[in-house]
Amino acid sequence: MAKLTQGTYHLVSLGCPKNLVDSESIARILNRRGLLAVDLPEKSEYLIVNTCGFLAAAREEALAVLTDLASGKKTWQKLIAAGCMPELHRQDLFDSVPGLDGVLGTRRWMDIFHVLDQLDQKNRQEPFSPVSLQTLESYKPAEKHRFAIQGGTAYLKIADGCRRACSYCLIPLIKGGLVSRSIDAIVQDAKFLQDQGIKELILIAQDTTDYGHDLGMRDGLVRLLETLLKTVPHIPWIRLMYAFPGYVTKGLIQLMKSESQILPYLDIPLQHADPAVLRAMRRPANIEAVTQALGHIRSEVEDIALRTTMIVGFPGEDEPAFQRLIDFVKFVRFDHLGTFPYSFEPGSPAEVLGNPIPEEIKDARAEQLMQIQAEISRSHNQAFIGQEMDVLIEGIDDENKISIGRSYRDAPEVDGLVLIEGIAPVGAIVPAKITGAITHDLFGKLV
Ligand code: SF4
Repeated sequence: MAKLTQGTYHLVSLGCPKNLVDSESIARILNRRGLLAVDLPEKSEYLIVNTCGFLAAAREEALAVLTDLASGKKTWQKLIAAGCMPELHRQDLFDSVPGLDGVLGTRRWMDIFHVLDQLDQKNRQEPFSPVSLQTLESYKPAEKHRFAIQGGTAYLKIADGCRRACSYCLIPLIKGGLVSRSIDAIVQDAKFLQDQGIKELILIAQDTTDYGHDLGMRDGLVRLLETLLKTVPHIPWIRLMYAFPGYVTKGLIQLMKSESQILPYLDIPLQHADPAVLRAMRRPANIEAVTQALGHIRSEVEDIALRTTMIVGFPGEDEPAFQRLIDFVKFVRFDHLGTFPYSFEPGSPAEVLGNPIPEEIKDARAEQLMQIQAEISRSHNQAFIGQEMDVLIEGIDDENKISIGRSYRDAPEVDGLVLIEGIAPVGAIVPAKITGAITHDLFGKLV
């Protein structure tokens, strides 16, 4: 083996920020053991793909990446599939990706070094399968960091797994039930991130509003936030993602209202607005209560930005049900909305409902809903013209002398950007005057 490749790894992270945090945790373990991350797969001894597996499209992407790496793999390289996909599709992975040496389930990411160690000792023709699963709290404290840093932003995982029973979702099967981290462990990570100069802390979990339920806490997220307000006062932005409808408590609204450090931004994936479809999805189906709750949040928290996601084409979504969804979206006027055509997932509780709605109808409905939302998002954005906003700078377009960032209204990757004339320091929060608006993005100049 060429000397350069020994003890090196190439890690590909697929899927959502929750998976990114796991990827960074894997990387930290490997780095601590003296391994070196490299960009080029051909220079790497270990090829690791942290997969996303909860939708068919994500599994296809993971298989494509793994197959590509396997096709160029040399005899001295080892290919490992980690993450969600090995939890439910372990055998499929070995069947579909010749040359795959090992798999590591999403709940076993902390055992990455053990897998590499085993592979080194084994005959490489023999795939390695890890043993039974373990929960988050059983690994060594030194490996407990659960964050991923991206510029001035850090995602911080506060819990993993989910105890809800949404019928279309494989996550509880893949990740198991809710396992919250202790407030102490989260605060330790947050303090570390504060020391690194992080400007935006994004708290993530499958369902952040369920934080602490398994630890016997009441309003656990509020308790956690109250502690963070005291312990990391120098992180100016704390953002919450993935709230469950009906679980945004009075305490949380109050905190968002009174504490400027907690951004007035809520991502509440609602998935639909027709009660019958919601019942079939096993989601909160009292849409009047949801509408009232959203109105209440808006009346209490000034300038709150609301984001949601919707699934179209779920079994039973007839034309009247889809129309109710459109009416709801037009009525609530979310700041941001993502739409996904229903993905039929064998093994999910909704499998028994089949997949009766043709893909072209799902796609047409998704497009129709996004067009309706585009008009709403544009008009929300236009209301900010002439206002001053704080913008977290994420990058620079040197050629055009433009700074690219986000305001409190925009979460990374899923929402819009603010494009500012002039060069501002990357990682800083700067005031900008908004001068223009399109559907998703704002334009401004430095104040
Ligand atoms: S809340 Fe529902 S959709 Fe979200 S991870 Fe849990 S089961 Fe899946």
